[in-house]
Amino acid sequence: MNLTVDEVVKACRGKFIKGNPQESILGISIDSRNIMPGELFIPLKGERFDGHDFITEACKRGAAGFLTSNLESVKGCEGSIILVEDTLSALQDIAHFYRKKFPIPFIAVTGSTGKTTTKDLISKVLSQRFNVLKTTGNLNNQIGLPLTLLKLNSQHQIGVVEMGMSGFGEIARLTKIVNPRIAVLTNIGLSHIEKLGSVENIAKAKSEIFEGLEQNGKAFLNADDIHLLEIRRKFPHIEFKTYGIKNGDIRAVNIVSSGQKGITFDIVSDERTEYGFILKIPGVHNVYNALAAVSVGFEFGLNPDEIQAALRDFKMSKMRLEITEEKDSNLIIINDAYNASPDSMKAALNLLQEISSQRGRRAVAVLGNMLEMGTWGPPAHREIGRFVAEKGIDYLITVGDVAEYIAAGAKEGGMPGDRVFSFKTNMEAIKKLEEIKKEYDIILVKGSRGMKMEEIVHYLSCGG
Ligand code: ATP
Ligand code: MG
Repeated sequence: MNLTVDEVVKACRGKFIKGNPQESILGISIDSRNIMPGELFIPLKGERFDGHDFITEACKRGAAGFLTSNLESVKGCEGSIILVEDTLSALQDIAHFYRKKFPIPFIAVTGSTGKTTTKDLISKVLSQRFNVLKTTGNLNNQIGLPLTLLKLNSQHQIGVVEMGMSGFGEIARLTKIVNPRIAVLTNIGLSHIEKLGSVENIAKAKSEIFEGLEQNGKAFLNADDIHLLEIRRKFPHIEFKTYGIKNGDIRAVNIVSSGQKGITFDIVSDERTEYGFILKIPGVHNVYNALAAVSVGFEFGLNPDEIQAALRDFKMSKMRLEITEEKDSNLIIINDAYNASPDSMKAALNLLQEISSQRGRRAVAVLGNMLEMGTWGPPAHREIGRFVAEKGIDYLITVGDVAEYIAAGAKEGGMPGDRVFSFKTNMEAIKKLEEIKKEYDIILVKGSRGMKMEEIVHYLSCGG
């Protein structure tokens, strides 16, 4: 890492207490359990732990220095000591300072659903030509994003980061740290509606991403999302590029979805038509995520062959519509237990219905609570229930209290009552599945992260 103690002091406007200002820091760590000798330890305050309590441990492991907001906590520590008011803000300031040492472009991805998938697709495409730094997994918050930036080295030519939020001000802070050249907005949905209160507020919070754009930076967005078009209208000074299936500067046409085998499509724009894009991941919604990657790829001068090669080779992260065919039971399991929002529920149900009709098999949906929706919860779950009925799903099992509204909506939509079951726990749902499942069924399992619906998947694939 190309950073000295003195630079850290300047970056976070801290008070240098002791140590060697010229000393180089080999890395930055917030976890005393795996800090390496020569690294700087930044103790963060969490809900359950205060990192300041682990400074002595970090010291024993050979940390070269410490940030602290409490001088008592560093008593007796060897190494450099820097006093700051707030260690999280300091981490962010240091990350910003460090990022500015590397004059490379960044692409920042935000939106309600599909951020991780889109970020991974964009990185995959750009990796055809460039050495890319990207957010690992889902490290998209006020801590994960700075830690990602601190991994930058002189080999990196471009960065792709995910930005998540649960309230106002968070994306603004992240974008100012990164200073992206391109902002990508995937869509606006109901995730985090409880805290933000309205879809308009969610759109407003996401559009904070423009506050940190480089001068002459651009925004790429999904033109089929009406809330995003509204954003476009509100920010006339920003250059927008759009993509979509119905609308957009770049559009996907001739889309053919072959269930678990994936999707093929062609791309048209005013200037050109490119044929034969293959995405070996399921779900038509992923065409939007891929279109973001195609648009960014063209922006950075990649040719269609390079982009196609990247998409063809792309593999999905775990628990996002992960499809397995069980050899013993002959079940097809769609594991979408990573999380759930109304949009991603619909996307998953579309896929379940598609595979079930293509293969002529029964479709079973096991759906858990979509959390953090407050008063929006009951109507949104009820609407998903109606969608389940509309799609002709054969059996519905709901898990959790608010998910009972999915069951109610399904019955209102005309689904026979003896095919709809509601339970409080995953274990009860498993027992019912044992009773109703038949060989060759296709079973979708999906719910919010807190519902741990992978327990059901695990049971189905390992028998408990
Ligand atoms: P998080 O807010 O947890 O970071 P995310 O925005 O990063 O989520 P992903 O992890 O990519 O999103 O996907 C989460 C869920 O949303 C998965 O179930 C996935 O299948 C679904 N999904 C992904 N892209 C879309 C999309 N464009 N439209 C609807 N659903 C999507
Ligand atoms: Mg994510």
